[in-house]
Amino acid sequence: DQSVCAPLPVLGRDVTVPLVTGGEVTYAALDYAASAPALQRVWDDVAAYAPYYGSVHRGAGYLSQLSTDLFENSRAAVAEFLDCREADQVVFTRSTTDSLNLLAAALPAGCQVFVFETEHHASLLPWGNARVTYLDAPRTPGEAVTTLERALADRDPYGPALVCVTGASNVTGELWPVRELAAAAHAHGARIVLDAAQLAPHHPVSVKDLDVDWVAFSGHKLYAPFGSGVLAGRADWLREAEPYLAGGGASRKVARRADGGVDVEWHTTAARHEAGSPNVIGVYAIASACKALAEAGFDDLVARERYLVAKVREGLAGVPEVKVLSLFGDEAPRVGVISFVVRGWNSSHFAAALSAEYGIGVRDGLFCAHPLVRTLLGGDPQDVGECGAPDGGTTSLNAIRVSFGAGTPDEHVDRFVRAVKELVRDGARWKYRTEDGRCVP
Ligand code: PMP
Repeated sequence: DQSVCAPLPVLGRDVTVPLVTGGEVTYAALDYAASAPALQRVWDDVAAYAPYYGSVHRGAGYLSQLSTDLFENSRAAVAEFLDCREADQVVFTRSTTDSLNLLAAALPAGCQVFVFETEHHASLLPWGNARVTYLDAPRTPGEAVTTLERALADRDPYGPALVCVTGASNVTGELWPVRELAAAAHAHGARIVLDAAQLAPHHPVSVKDLDVDWVAFSGHKLYAPFGSGVLAGRADWLREAEPYLAGGGASRKVARRADGGVDVEWHTTAARHEAGSPNVIGVYAIASACKALAEAGFDDLVARERYLVAKVREGLAGVPEVKVLSLFGDEAPRVGVISFVVRGWNSSHFAAALSAEYGIGVRDGLFCAHPLVRTLLGGDPQDVGECGAPDGGTTSLNAIRVSFGAGTPDEHVDRFVRAVKELVRDGARWKYRTEDGRCVP
């Protein structure tokens, strides 16, 4: 389709890998949902800055001042990317997991938490200190809203409450009705945090428009390198909470007391939760990725991804042995994340064959969303047949996930569709075995 923009240049686009069948091929990275390749532009920005980096907030020298400015300006770039409110704080963390654990540690006393069982474990598990209500998997976006409304209507109306919800599923790629869920939360006096790990790389996120209280995402899924993440949103709970990490940088004043103890005055800004020397390169890279995506234009990126999703969906629809996993049905809008099972195939063997025979990197497993994948597979055993559970059905159920984004050329998804068709028609050319959790020819 000539009207669709070109992919953005990413690292690794010329890497070749050997095939077990002989020869080599350009690697097709189709596992963006795990970690997307960094944009070349981000890498170039980091390389240009790297010789000049210095300690942040801790040095009088020119390079320390430069680094401090770049670090602090990165907050503004992220706030702009997320269309934050004026008073919102941008806290730099290690990842989405870290961001949600930080928020969990900052919950006010007596807070109730509401979370769908369909969440990624990073959203499902950090709330151990609170009273958690796990909501059943909805089968339509509308049912998600009514399920939440019903649960909130039953809650203690005077205590604080938090809803945690994903923007786009890391399993099905389906978009969740975030704006409606936020409205339901607020109508019942609850707050809401958006897990945007899979949404932000594929779709514009506006805190103001969605009216969410916090957003969390990871740099390594947003075309920046590993090691940095973001929690952005309302300052009050964060300002009132104990520092996530105690140490230098979070503390404004520390003094011995007459009784021999220590008095600490903590910062009330984002620094309160960023003790220790920060990941200045990672933070700078996130800000660079935010700017690069905004400049590329989300309209074009979304249109290109929709076109790639349609290619894959149409390709897979032509293979009756393939079952695409979906909570909200075939028509539901989704980002470039598609999970499926293949009748008669062990999902791990299928993924291994895609890698070894076609140079295609996907992921197999339960994608850190065990309850969701079990619901999608186990909820309909008749339909699933022996998919993903071969070897006499002794292996646990799992699925295959293909995911892509701004850097994906047409050839990668075309090769993927051809590979699925050939593997289903002809079988694998090798006998794959599972060894220590790894699949090998
Ligand atoms: N939420 C979702 C929806 C995800 O897909 C992921 C990563 N797979 C996470 C949270 C956790 O992100 P990270 O591993 O970067 O902490």
